[in-house]
Amino acid sequence: MTIPIDVQTEDEPSFDTLALHAGAYPDPATGALLTPIYQSTTYVMEAVGSHKGYTYSRTANPTVTALERRLAALEGAEYCACFGTGLGATAALALALLQAGDRAVLSDVVYGGTVRLFQQVLSKFGVEAEFVDTSDPLLLEGALRRPTRLLFIESPANPTLKLTDIEIAARLGHAAGAVVVVDNTLQTPVLQRPLELGADIALHSTTKFIEGHNATLGGALITHSAELHEKLSFLRNAIGAIQSPFNAWLTLQGVKTLPLRMERHSANALKVARFLEGHPKVTKIYYPGLESFPQYELARRQQKTGGALMAFEVEGGTEAGIRVMNAVRLCSLAENLGAAETLVTHPASMTHSAVPVEQRLATGITDGLIRISVGLENPDDIIEDLRRALEA
Ligand code: PLP
Repeated sequence: MTIPIDVQTEDEPSFDTLALHAGAYPDPATGALLTPIYQSTTYVMEAVGSHKGYTYSRTANPTVTALERRLAALEGAEYCACFGTGLGATAALALALLQAGDRAVLSDVVYGGTVRLFQQVLSKFGVEAEFVDTSDPLLLEGALRRPTRLLFIESPANPTLKLTDIEIAARLGHAAGAVVVVDNTLQTPVLQRPLELGADIALHSTTKFIEGHNATLGGALITHSAELHEKLSFLRNAIGAIQSPFNAWLTLQGVKTLPLRMERHSANALKVARFLEGHPKVTKIYYPGLESFPQYELARRQQKTGGALMAFEVEGGTEAGIRVMNAVRLCSLAENLGAAETLVTHPASMTHSAVPVEQRLATGITDGLIRISVGLENPDDIIEDLRRALEA
């Protein structure tokens, strides 16, 4: 059974089915079930000006198109453009939508690379970026009083999991005339659907849960708007930021199990979070699935689960935190998140090292903060590893 998403049926296939089938067709030449890796730079034309929709793989590639169709279907949208990395998608977004003199408002907690891009690169081209606590509608409304072209939200935010009410933010952003973008990397469309909440664009680092196996880098920008998609695709071609067909193919395989994985990631994470919350050495824990999380009610409304990411601090501050991170054995001390393997990260020296110290500390990203991306191992084994590391 193959369900092309551009063939509308009366019975819309369920999300789980779309994750397996959307965008894929048996290869017309051979019947191959899996979309082939179209490892070709160029496409022979029938005559000048006449081709089958593909001319050069910087512009578009059939394997990448299959992934784009699938990701669009999962976010419930019409359009998707895939990029070489998540940050490549963010950079393309900014270059496509902003020009010198424009201003962007961003959540005060976002992935460190996003901060670096706006503060250290886009600033050179006259783009102003203001980082605001978008979880507070009054502060957000205040920030949007000055002309704003782009509102960029990350919810939950990496690494403190702070949430922004996307529906409210989208309303405020649109009233101010901004394009509203939500980085949905941490939740994926399985757990949160930003476009249904009013956002214009959902951004993903497919490097994380979407591909899910620590095997590829990739990014995606997904939208209902033909006009925005046209701008993003033009820019992608102009700067040469498309994803490779091999990475798109691997991601097409990974995404098939996304709904199953997110369910298991979430269940494991909740068990790990409850263990950490009850451990005498843990002084602070950030996980939206815990009743004690300050934005628990918003999490329940906006997300299907608390997700797989959490952060915590231990008694003894920075030194003790670093000791725990160095003591894990089953969990790996590494930069990524969202993979099958449990990864432990030190945001201050790794993912968020490019964030100015004052901004980092003011938003709770302390030197002792430990981030965990809970994987698919048996949760008891993850807990045992953490218990041993905490007591080492
Ligand atoms: N957005 C979020 C929330 C991230 O965590 C990351 C990377 O960690 C990115 C974007 C950037 O993605 P990539 O590493 O694929 O460039």
